[in-house]
Amino acid sequence: MALTAEPQAAARQASLRRHNLGVVFQLIAGSPEPLSRAELAARATLTRATATALVDQLVRAGIVEEMDQRVSGRAGRPAIPVRAARGTMVGLGLEVNVDYLGARAIDLAGEVIAERIEPDDFSGRAPEDVLGELARVCRTVRAAATRRHARVLGAALAVPGPVDRPLGPLRLAPNLGWVDVDVATPLGRALRVPLFKVDNEASLAARAELAARDSSTASALAKGFIYVSGGIGIGAGIVEPGGVYGGAHGWAGEIGHVAVYPNGRVCRCGSKGCLEQYAGRRAIAAGAGLGADTAAAAIAQRAGDGHPPTLAALHRAGVALGIALAGAVNLMDIPAVVLGADLALLAPYVSDDVAAQLRQRVLALHWSGRSEAVLPAVAPALPAMTGAALIVTDSVVSDPAAYL
Ligand SMILES: [Zn+2]
Repeated sequence: MALTAEPQAAARQASLRRHNLGVVFQLIAGSPEPLSRAELAARATLTRATATALVDQLVRAGIVEEMDQRVSGRAGRPAIPVRAARGTMVGLGLEVNVDYLGARAIDLAGEVIAERIEPDDFSGRAPEDVLGELARVCRTVRAAATRRHARVLGAALAVPGPVDRPLGPLRLAPNLGWVDVDVATPLGRALRVPLFKVDNEASLAARAELAARDSSTASALAKGFIYVSGGIGIGAGIVEPGGVYGGAHGWAGEIGHVAVYPNGRVCRCGSKGCLEQYAGRRAIAAGAGLGADTAAAAIAQRAGDGHPPTLAALHRAGVALGIALAGAVNLMDIPAVVLGADLALLAPYVSDDVAAQLRQRVLALHWSGRSEAVLPAVAPALPAMTGAALIVTDSVVSDPAAYL
């Protein structure tokens, strides 16, 4: 049945208001400095009255908070700047990896409100046991956030392998020994909060790195970057100016299983000569003559002391990384590389070898005159959990009206 003119006009108005709420909150959330209602009106090209009404609605919903008055020096009322609210709403970022699991609650301003990390060895452990443990950790973090009067909006989960978008199954996590695991159904039931997404940890870590970086167009990373997440396994997040590229199914970024030496070491995936057999943390530790569980910081310390077998293992890791990354850069024309997770700590000992391989192998460097940037990551430790939480809080940024 066709709507009469009046309901049609009301629906148009509601849709416009929803759109404008999004525009105003995106300006607030994206600004490094708090903004006044007048500044928001100018930037959003809205009337002062409209901008004020929208901001007031966001303040009442706990999405935006007012700060102390700012006296402008000009005549008129002092301005009250606003910014994304602290501690009112949180997203839960969850992660299961080979050697730890954890949960991190992050608010709309990107601040960590609560978190819990449990190191353990989960390789070969049954998915239901590990997911049960994750649900328990998550409930602890959720309770801590609730005690601080934060509203928990939902969760997203990072796992060390390719996942069908948006909620799985997790297809294959060679280092956990998991194949075709439905992680979303049991976890969603145990959490009792909406599960927004399950994704590869490297893609989520890349998202956290993007948020932590200067977004200016002058940045070395403005034209995109390949984020390499180094741990026991190695994954990559491919960041384009528009966001993280997931591929046709969400399976992109499996650089750890790119062959660098086709007849090389046997990999847990069943192939041979994969990158992670040379640049994964356990491979580096073994090459350095250290125990399998040696942490990246301890490996870096050995290298800093000039320990020859450690330096040799890191040289092999850097060369292998550079060979694999050169293939990716040649194929995708993405001009920068960010070394993340364990590789951020080891970057001083591998970056030169990565850069040397890129110089030798990336065709575009013959005429572009540029050198590919190889940079250590700046996002805080365990970035995939942050990236997962951002999936949830970004849903408020894209449509705040859904959370009024
Ligand atoms: Zn492999």
